[in-house]
Amino acid sequence: MSHAPKRPRHFASDNYAGVCPEAWEALADCNSGHVQGYGDDPWTAGAANLLRDFFEKQCEVFFVFNGTAANSLALASTCQSYHSILCHETAHIETHECGAPEFFSNGTKVLLLPGEHGRITPDAIERAVKRRSDIHYPKPRAVSLTQATEVGTVYSAAELHAIGEVARKLDLRVHMDGARFANALASLNCRPREITWEAGVDVLCFGGTKNGMAVGDAVVFFNLEMAREFDYRCKQAGQLASKMRFLSAPWVGVLKDEAWKRHARHANRMARILESKLQILPGVQILHPCEANMVFVRLPPGLVSTLWAKGWLFYAHAHPDEARLVCSWDTRPEDIDAFLTDIRSVITPKKSTREIRKKP
Ligand SMILES: *Cc1c(COP(=O)(O)O)cnc(C)c1O
Repeated sequence: MSHAPKRPRHFASDNYAGVCPEAWEALADCNSGHVQGYGDDPWTAGAANLLRDFFEKQCEVFFVFNGTAANSLALASTCQSYHSILCHETAHIETHECGAPEFFSNGTKVLLLPGEHGRITPDAIERAVKRRSDIHYPKPRAVSLTQATEVGTVYSAAELHAIGEVARKLDLRVHMDGARFANALASLNCRPREITWEAGVDVLCFGGTKNGMAVGDAVVFFNLEMAREFDYRCKQAGQLASKMRFLSAPWVGVLKDEAWKRHARHANRMARILESKLQILPGVQILHPCEANMVFVRLPPGLVSTLWAKGWLFYAHAHPDEARLVCSWDTRPEDIDAFLTDIRSVITPKKSTREIRKKP
């Protein structure tokens, strides 16, 4: 048993959480004896096969260290330097990857589309492509979708099919940033194939970290042609793990017995509870539908700093009074209660005469 003090669960990110038991056990499991390096091991083969079963598709699978590498390398394998990638203006590839997609593709330009609640639409894609067709414009080659989106909403299967259709018509490849794909899938409660290759997704960057792994994303190519020589791209980018089994074995742990689903469902449920407790408070406004494991909320002026001063960790990227609250596989109801207690103590101060009298 660990004697570490009980640490609070924060709402900053699902990557603030530790490793889930199934991933941890898989790491322990693969940690005996010698096997070949660089992915020629039974765990890597097993994890790739489990992903093929999961998607019901003969896909090509690669394991890399993180989401930035997965996205950038997947997009680089799709695009030439004179191409462009269409994505939502809040997309991680635009706002949080330090230009890595452009860097690894030797200059492919990221073009930003607006869209309500973090989603882009077939119309916006079509407009962006048809706006220009001359040689002076970077030729649109790929559309990148984030599922679940950066603001905690989810594309439905129908929305994805519509985007897939317009992409096919316009000769665009479809990339999906699935850092929170497990949360989206648990939210939609459909088969993985329905929101990936059947909807026209060519390559999915399936995030493991935010669903309870220590490290590692799976790049899943449904379009096999796009996977050609991707192994070289990974190696050149410093993304070929020599002890690969420690990246791949956790996928075995999380995919078998659907641990991924239990954890994603739990995180989503915690977010819904947090949302329902926040939205009834005075002066509090929910900003986006809570469809996965994140709640975006406008709080009364100054409350964000007050909560930070009380020690709570969470981000307010977009605006000083707008909090992004993320739940994880290990968020507990008592964490939500403690957070709410601190909020209520500030926005609905108890001014009963007895309390006032008690003060020295
Ligand atoms: C966390 C996240 C990633 C991956 O980020 P890394 O820190 O590179 O692992 C990618 N896309 C989205 C939308 C994310 O939230």
